[in-house]
Parts: sequence; C-alpha cells; structure tokens
Amino acid sequence: MKFTELAKYLEKLEETSSRLSLIEILSELFNKTPEEEIEKIVYLIQGRIAPFYAPVEMGMAEKSVASALANAYGSDKEKVINLFNKLGDMGKTAEQFSSKFKVQSSKLSVSEVFEVLTQIAETSGEGTVEKRQALLSGLLKKLDAISAKHLVRIPLGNTRLGIGDPTILDALATAKLGDKLNRKKLEGAYNRTSDLGLIAKTLWQKGLSGVERLEVRVGSPIRSELCERLPNPEKVIEKMGEVDVQYKYDGFRVQIHKDGQNVRMFSRNLEEMTHMFPELIKATLDQISAKTVILDTEALAYNPDSEEFLPFQETTKRRRKHGIEAAAARLPLKAFVFDILYKDGQQLLDKTLVGRMKILKDTIKEDGVLIRTKNQTVGEPKALSLLLEDAISKGLEGLVVKKLQSPYEAGGRNFNWVKLKRHSDGELSDTIDCVILGYISGRGKRTEFGAGALLVGVYDSERDEFVSISRIGTGLTDDEWREIHRRADKISLDHKPARVNSSIIPSVWIEPKIVIEVLADEITRSPLHTAGKTEKEPGFALRFPRLVSFRTADKKPEDATQVSEIKRLYEQQYNKK
Ligand code: ATP
Repeated sequence: MKFTELAKYLEKLEETSSRLSLIEILSELFNKTPEEEIEKIVYLIQGRIAPFYAPVEMGMAEKSVASALANAYGSDKEKVINLFNKLGDMGKTAEQFSSKFKVQSSKLSVSEVFEVLTQIAETSGEGTVEKRQALLSGLLKKLDAISAKHLVRIPLGNTRLGIGDPTILDALATAKLGDKLNRKKLEGAYNRTSDLGLIAKTLWQKGLSGVERLEVRVGSPIRSELCERLPNPEKVIEKMGEVDVQYKYDGFRVQIHKDGQNVRMFSRNLEEMTHMFPELIKATLDQISAKTVILDTEALAYNPDSEEFLPFQETTKRRRKHGIEAAAARLPLKAFVFDILYKDGQQLLDKTLVGRMKILKDTIKEDGVLIRTKNQTVGEPKALSLLLEDAISKGLEGLVVKKLQSPYEAGGRNFNWVKLKRHSDGELSDTIDCVILGYISGRGKRTEFGAGALLVGVYDSERDEFVSISRIGTGLTDDEWREIHRRADKISLDHKPARVNSSIIPSVWIEPKIVIEVLADEITRSPLHTAGKTEKEPGFALRFPRLVSFRTADKKPEDATQVSEIKRLYEQQYNKK
C-alpha cells in the first residue's frame, strides 16, 4: 500500500470522533491491507512502529522536527517555528510547507516509510539528532502534503487519533471475519500477548484458529487480572464461598519476566520499566532457579525489621529516569510475589489459583528481596474480618480475596478477585480513578490559571468510550492546578476528542489521557452526566469530589474506573442505606 493512501485514512480518522465511524473507516483500511503490511499499519495507526510495551522511541523534539522540515522544503527553521507557534501543531505546519513544495503524488510505500522510521528509532550515539533529522527530511521530500502532516506527528509521539485498542480489535474482526462476533477471541489473544500487530498479522496469515493458538510469551507483558469490590466480609463469603486471602499491598504492580539471564519488567499499564528496579533484576536471578518464568508482583518499599510499608508515593518516585541507583540504596524495594503465570516453557493461566500457588511455592524457596505473598484459606466471615483488621493495623490497604478454583483471567476484572478495604462497609471509602476531559473556565482567582473546574469522566468499557461523571474545582490547590496545566495544556484540543461522550461541553477539551484518583462522599444520579446514562435512567455523578493523586504513572486512561464498577458502588451504597 502507498503511504499516501494510509495518510488519507488517517485524515478521515482524525475528522471523526464517533466510535462507529472509526471502526468503519479502520475496517475499510484493513480490508485493503495486504498480509505483509497489516502488522506495520496496526502499529502506525497508534503512532508507533512496535507494540506499546516495546521501548522503541523515535524521540524527536519539536525543534528537531522543525529543522527537518526546513531542510526538506528549503526554508529556514525560524520560519517553520513561527508557523508552528501560530498553528500549534507540527502536522499542520508540515502540511502547509509541503503544499507549497507541490509533491503531487508520492510513490513511497507504507513499508518504505516504516523502514525509515525504524532507522530513526535505531539511530544512537554521536550525531543522533542530525542523523534523525536527515532521515526525516529525506522522507518529507518525497511525500505529499497530507502524508507529511501525518508522518511528522509520529516521531513527535503526537498522532492525536485517540483510537483505543478495543476499537482496533473491533475493526480487525469486522475486516477479516465479517462482523464483531469473534472479537472476544481476538481480545483473549490480546490479553495474553499485548501485541495488536502480532494479532493482526496472525489473523491475516493463519486465520482465527491461529490467533486462538497464540500463547503467552516471555518478554511480552500479560494484561493484568484486576479486582472487583465487595462491601464487607459477609458479602465476600456469601458470594465467593471459601477464599484464598492475601494482603493488599499498596505499591507498584510489576510483572517480572525471566528468560535465562535476561530479566525484564512491565508495569500494570504494560510499559517496560526494567531500568527502574535494578535490585529486582538481581533478586530474580538470585532467587529463581527456573530458566523461564513470569511472576505477578507488587513492589514497594518495605522495612522487614520494623515491618513498615512505605506509601505508594514513595515507591513511584522511582519513575524518574535519574538517580535510580541512589534511590535503590536509600529506599530498597521488596517485591511481594502473588502469582506465577509461566514456568519453564509452560503457560499457567489455565491452572487454578490453588495449583499456581503450589507451583509458586516450589519456585521461590526462600524469601529475600522477592517475598512470596503469604496466603490462607478462609470460609468464615469472622475469620476474614480478623484478617482485615490485622492488615489495616499493619498500615496496609486491606485484603485481596481470590476464588480458589479460578484460572488467571488476563485483562479481567470480575469476582474471581475481590478487594476488601477498610471502611468499605458504609460510605464511599474507595477512590475512583477519573480521566480529565476538559477545562471549564471560571471567574475569580482561578482564572489566573485559566480554568475554574475540570470536567472528568470514567471509562465505559463496553462502548470503549469516556463518559463524564463530575466537575472538580474547589478542592484543588493552586499547586495542583499548576500540575494539571503542566500535564494537560500540551494535549488540549479545539474539538471533542474521539471516544468522548459528554453532554457538558467544556471551554477547552483535553485528550483523555490524564488519570487522577478522586475521593468523593457519595455517588449520586444526575441527568447532566453521561456515565451510566440510559434512555430510562440519568447518569451517575460524584458528590464532593477531591483530588487524591495523579495516577498517570501506572494507569492508562482505559484503566480508569469503569461505569460497571460505579454502578455497583452506587448499588452497594444504596443497599446500605
Ligand atoms: P487501587 O486503586 O485500589 O490501588 P487498582 O485500581 O490499582 O486498585 P484493583 O483491581 O482495584 O486495582 O486492585 C488490584 C491491585 O492491587 C493490583 O493491580 C495490584 O497492584 C495490587 N495488589 C496488592 N496486593 C495484591 C495481591 N495480593 N493480589 C493481587 N493484587 C494485589
């Protein structure tokens, strides 16, 4: 396929924000895509040249892309930057320069462009900046205006299409299998491999049965299993029967992959973070004798002598790229291992929890930096209550209870795993993870920062949409506003972003990317909001919401609280009253 044809589709995708038309346009594109290029096109649609978890970055700054444009179109960098400052978008800047340059039709194929983007990503060492600019401007000279517009956004990491993984899966299913009926099977493979390009390529080459045979691979993260909520120990036993009970550690979820001497680690939102935890690499090599292994763990700073657990915020400071060795010395981490998903060539997802825990016991013989999470089987609400008290007295968040016979459901959030927290019996005590959708401008002091309130939403996973649930304003401090602007101004838009469904129109839209943890007094019903809204019922809203923390470090927007959870929290609250 010619790159210019792909660019025309990217243009159409950019112009729509309706999910159904996104699927339609994408499936038309996929239909035309040959086997050799489907994997590449799936990555490019997401502004990448590799799956999300692969740390392949083209890493070009705006200034550097501006130099490439100047070079390609025989202009100078100042002029490019002036136009960029006016338009606020390097894509449109490239489009304008390129249209004057008049490349009418471009012959470059998607594969050729992909190849050069790969070279850009692989360039390293001395003169990287210049080499990358030369590669990019070489491409630009051969591309028409629309192609140039979409191309330059890729190395900037700013493709603005907002297409979610579920939408791509729907489009792949529609294109290749005729409808969305088998999309669940594609999703299953995605939960095991986290690689949409691989799934597309396999579907094109080997059909649906090939996709179903895709197994877990050491080195590719498995999508994490997550917890549902229940209000109290009685409800847990009533609904789940005898359960396996473990502490709920409030740290950083780390999936550890060991392949011989090579250890890699992934966050809950599938990002590679091997560099962050040097002590966990060493511990894995020291403590795990199996050749290949995948472990599900929660890493946090813990002092075994005083039995003190340090708060999540302390642990996440590690995300900074610098000073990791010093941080590791000052605040050594432990990883509490609570599951094993793969061992010596065998995927363990289908084994029961009891079976996996037994294998885990044989895999980590003695505790060290890796500590096997203690667990016990409980069938009585009273015993469960005592364990909850015990966890809380140790400064932990609460417990995770798990069904004894359940398999590991990658990417699932259901009643196989349930979290039980402190006051979950009564008022809303658990926090809600919201996605920022826009600024609503206000009057008075806040206008200093250009906004009076934020419009925030939650995730509707059935429709792959972000729906509004609250405005947050008064609870934010000036520092928090500054922080929000620092993160959000770069991704503000003058039109409604794709996959956002809101009847409140904010003054400025923000791409749904920033996840914040919010505590509210109550969930109420409100006709103003679209979360959970149906023809018959109004939406859900939050009463007295306040910001607790920024969660962008460990959560993708799709990891925000889901409408189905909000509904259950609302019902639990109501039953209580
Ligand atoms: P929260 O917002 O309460 O931290 P969450 O939204 O991050 O929760 P949940 O599904 O609510 O995710 O809770 C599961 C998380 O709890 C896991 O992602 C993991 O990081 C953490 N965790 C701590 N201890 C355990 C354990 N023993 N078993 C499973 N998960 C655990």
